[in-house]
Amino acid sequence: MKLRDIISPFYAWKRAFEKPFTIMRPRKDREGAPAYRGFHINDLGKCVGCGTCEAICQNAAIDMVEIPGQETKRGDSGLRPSIDYGRCCWCALCVDVCPTTSLGMSNEYNWISDDGEDWVFIPGGDQKPWDMSEKGYRSTDESWLIEPARASMRFVKPDIRRKNFDEMMLGYTTETALEEAARCVECGLCIEACPTHMDVPQYIRAIRDQDLEEGLRILYDTNPFSESCGRVCTAHCETACPVGAQGRPLAIRWLKRYITDNTLDIRDSILETEDIPATGKKVAILGAGPAGLTAGFYLSHYGHEVRVFEQEDKPGGMLLSGIPEYRLPDEVIAREIKVIEDAGVEIKTGVRIGKDISARRILDDYDAVFISVGAQVGTDMPVEGNDLPAVHIGLDFLDRISKGERPDIGKKTIVVGGGNTAMDVARSAVRLDSEVEVVYRRSEKEMPANVEEVEEAREEGVVFNFLTTPEKITESGGRLQITCRRMRLGEPDSSGRRRPEAIEGSGFTIEADTCVMAIGQKVEDEIAREAGIKLNKWGNFDADPERMTTNIDGVFAGGDCETGPNDAVGAIGTGKKAAWSINEYLSGR
Ligand code: SF4
Ligand code: SF4
Repeated sequence: MKLRDIISPFYAWKRAFEKPFTIMRPRKDREGAPAYRGFHINDLGKCVGCGTCEAICQNAAIDMVEIPGQETKRGDSGLRPSIDYGRCCWCALCVDVCPTTSLGMSNEYNWISDDGEDWVFIPGGDQKPWDMSEKGYRSTDESWLIEPARASMRFVKPDIRRKNFDEMMLGYTTETALEEAARCVECGLCIEACPTHMDVPQYIRAIRDQDLEEGLRILYDTNPFSESCGRVCTAHCETACPVGAQGRPLAIRWLKRYITDNTLDIRDSILETEDIPATGKKVAILGAGPAGLTAGFYLSHYGHEVRVFEQEDKPGGMLLSGIPEYRLPDEVIAREIKVIEDAGVEIKTGVRIGKDISARRILDDYDAVFISVGAQVGTDMPVEGNDLPAVHIGLDFLDRISKGERPDIGKKTIVVGGGNTAMDVARSAVRLDSEVEVVYRRSEKEMPANVEEVEEAREEGVVFNFLTTPEKITESGGRLQITCRRMRLGEPDSSGRRRPEAIEGSGFTIEADTCVMAIGQKVEDEIAREAGIKLNKWGNFDADPERMTTNIDGVFAGGDCETGPNDAVGAIGTGKKAAWSINEYLSGR
C-alpha cells in the first residue's frame, strides 16, 4: 500500500472541521452579464396569484403561498409564488409563461447563506437586495409562451347586420375553438369571478379533449342558461382572466357557446336525470326570469315540486324582453326553458300576483317561496316634456320590439343613457332605420355599458354625445326639440364615478323624431307590500346576500328585485344560491 493511501483519509477528516470555504473567503462582488438569469423578482401589485408559474415549473420549485397583507379578491387569489432555490434550475419557463409579466429574474447570482431556509423565499415579498434590479431576464414578445390574440369569431358585417334583427355573432368553428382553448392557462381565477362559479378551466379542457358531452355536463352543473350566457354574458370571468393583462383575455363566453351550439342534438339525452326521489315539499317561484328559472331547475334536482308564476305570456324575463334578438335569438331562450321544464319545473304564465292570485295565498300554500320578479319598471327623467308621445322609456321600447313590433320611429332618434339598455335601444333603433345619437351625461370612461357593446354600436353607426344631458323636450312641427346642456366632471359621488356638473350658458337644441330614456329601472313593490316583505333603502327586496332569506320565514328573494338592475349571470348566480338555501331550509338545516 502506498503512503498516500494511508494519509488521505486523515487529510479529508481535517477538512471536516474547517469552516466552509465560501463563507470563510467570500468571492469579490462581480456583476453578472446583463441578461443573466439570477434570483427572481416579482412585482406583487401586478401579480394576481394565478399560479401559472407553479404549474409550468418542471422542478416543482414553486409553491403558491399566502402572503400577509395581500388581499384575496376577485381576479386575484391573494397567493404569491415562493421559490425553492434548492430545486430551481434557472430555466425561466415561469417568467416566460407569467401572464401578467410580473415575474422576472435579476442578474444577481452572488449570495451566500449557510441556512437552508434562506433559499426558499417569496420574490418581492421577502425583501432582497436585488428586488429593484433593472438587469436580468424578462419575457419578450418572442419568448412569451401565451398567444396574445384571440382566435377570431365569425360575425355579420356592420353594414349588413344594421338592416335586420338577425343574430350577428355566428360562433366558433371547431378549428377556431381549439385554437382559442389552447390559450387557457387553467389558473381558475375565472371560477371565483363568475357569479355562478362556472368551472371554466374544466369545460375549456373538455373542448381541448374534444369531449363536448362532458363540456355540456360541466356547464349545466352551475348554469342552466349556458346557451344564452355564451352569447350575452357580461363575462366577469374574462375580466379576471390574467391573460388579459398583456393580450386579449380568453374568449370564455364564445367557448361556452361553442359547446352548446355543437351539442344541440344530444342535449336532452345528456341532461336527462335519473328519477330523483320526491321530497314532498312544494316551492313557489314568482317570476320566470333567469333567477327564478335557475332556482327552479336546481330545486327540482333536489327533488322538490316547483311551480313558477309569471305575469307575461312567455317565460324568460329580461332575457326575452330586454335583450334584442340580434344578440339573443328567442329560439335559444325557448330551448333553455324546455330543459328546465323537462327537469320537472312547472311554469304558469299570464298570472299576475295580487290580481289573479294573492301573495298571501301563495305564502300559505307552499313550503317555501322564492321571489324573483326582476326590476322591470323603467324610470324616466324628470324633465319637462318626458310625457310627449314620441318620448319612450327604454325597457318598454325593447319589450315592444321583443314582441315583434317594428315601430316607425322616424329619421332621427336620441337615446338618453350610457348603460347596456341604452346600447340595446340605440342598436335596435338603428335596425329600425333611424339615425341614432346617444346622449350621456358623463364621459365614455364612466359608461356602465360593456366596451364591446359600445364598439359594436359605433360600428353600426351610432353617434355618441358625451357630457351632455337633456333639460327640456318640446314638440314643434311634428318633431322633438330636445334642449340639452353640456356637463363637466366634478368630484366622485357615492358610486365612485365623477359627478357631472352643468356648465352655465352651454345650452343647445337637438332636433329628433323620437327620444328614448334608458336611464334606469326599479322594482315593482306591490308583492312586498301585500306580503309584508321588507325593502331596503333602494326599494329592492331586502335579503341576505348569501342565503337570500328575507324577513319572513320561508320567503327568499333574488335576481334584480334583490340586487337592483344587474346582468343575467348575476341573476343566475342568486337563483343558484337561493336553490341551495331553500333546500337547506326545507331539509331543516
Ligand atoms: S404566473 Fe405571474 S401572475 Fe401568475 S402567480 Fe406567477 S408570478 Fe403571479
Ligand atoms: S426558473 Fe425554471 S426551475 Fe426555476 S422556478 Fe422558474 S420554472 Fe421553476
